[in-house]
Amino acid sequence: MMQRVTLPAKAIPKKWYNLSADLPVEFPEYSQTEEGKQLENLPKIFSRGVLEQELSQKRYITIPKKVRKIYKKVGRPSPLYRAKGLEDHLDTPAKIFYKREDMSPTGSHKFNTAIAQAYYAKKDKARMLTTETGAGQWGSALSLACNMMDIDCRVYMVRVSFQQKPYRKTIMHLYNGEILPSPSDKTEFGRKILSEDPDHPGTLGIAISEAIEDALKDEKIYYSLGSVLNHVMLHQTVIGLETKKQLAMIDAEPDIMVGCVGGGSNFAGAVFPFIKDQLDGNINCKFIAAEPNSCPTLTQGEYRYDFGDTAGMTPLIKMYTLGHEFVPPAIHTGGLRYHGMSPLVALLAHEKLIEARSVTQTEIFESGKIFADVEGVIPAPETCHAIKVGMDEAIKCRKEKEEKNIIINFSGHGLLDLQGYDDYIEGKLS
Ligand SMILES: *Cc1c(COP(=O)(O)O)cnc(C)c1O
Repeated sequence: MMQRVTLPAKAIPKKWYNLSADLPVEFPEYSQTEEGKQLENLPKIFSRGVLEQELSQKRYITIPKKVRKIYKKVGRPSPLYRAKGLEDHLDTPAKIFYKREDMSPTGSHKFNTAIAQAYYAKKDKARMLTTETGAGQWGSALSLACNMMDIDCRVYMVRVSFQQKPYRKTIMHLYNGEILPSPSDKTEFGRKILSEDPDHPGTLGIAISEAIEDALKDEKIYYSLGSVLNHVMLHQTVIGLETKKQLAMIDAEPDIMVGCVGGGSNFAGAVFPFIKDQLDGNINCKFIAAEPNSCPTLTQGEYRYDFGDTAGMTPLIKMYTLGHEFVPPAIHTGGLRYHGMSPLVALLAHEKLIEARSVTQTEIFESGKIFADVEGVIPAPETCHAIKVGMDEAIKCRKEKEEKNIIINFSGHGLLDLQGYDDYIEGKLS
């Protein structure tokens, strides 16, 4: 059995897959408040390219040649690895695979959509993209993408992370991104928050509000979101479309697919193309979304309309939510500290087409330590959520003597998250 399944550059998908074309129930339309005009604002903050994709019902959407070329330049298609070391360690008859999204220049899947969004902004003659970032993975990916497309990038970085993650700032600076700690005094909303609490630690929701405010004030500035929205899920489907080809090459079908969820994009990217196969009756697979128990959006949130940001500048989105004013604890998995969820992923969860599980911070670092030991790759704390759930499933296979194929989406590496590992090793995690 092959240990590593690679594809030639020409196998990079030519089209993204749009799940909106195949939903079993109608997509709950975005809405707005009477005074807010959030829907009317959308064309002011997004490029035409992504706005069209956001509402599109077309099943396949062509990837622009230039974006495909850059996918190739940064190393796509990404390899699919067999986790033989982990299988042996767990003594399981299951076969475990992981899709390596950590091999992009910024170390996670986020560049897949960053480059597409920067491309469409450039096409609309934007001067700058603004965005938010938590731990900094998204800000790094968008800074690189904007630099490649020759437009400016401004990143509002959640203040606690700005202070705790100095090296992500360095990465953004190397790619010529501008970084501001959020809440900042650059925007009205930021100043309002700071006047109430000068030491506010910030949240993703606040940073999103600040970035949108910039885009509303200047028609040459567009806003870019790293997860949640439909067009982001769309761009990430390169992951699953490649995985499909790779599994076909080794004659394997997925029985269990696992991904971690913050806003839902890496999970969506990996599984949406397979959800289509499942709906068509071609496979029988269990899809599991893994989230932190301290920010348990899918497992404990409510399915209802809510804003994507704190100030209420985004449209109302029907999703699982912990409330747009929820301030999650300062856990090490910055990428999963978001109150909401992709409405497409939420819809699948509500229809019971996918399952969700929550895991603790100690469990994830324990799994990450094992993975680094037996596979040699150090996973991001976010990714460890998926690994933990994948390991649990593999152990179940051992007990039930089942030879299932388990596919884990390996969303990113943990080489800039060593403080969390250190705290775990030294027994400092609660
Ligand atoms: C941002 C991030 C996540 C969470 O975001 P999703 O949109 O849910 O994918 C997960 N893993 C890594 C490595 C990330 O950088």
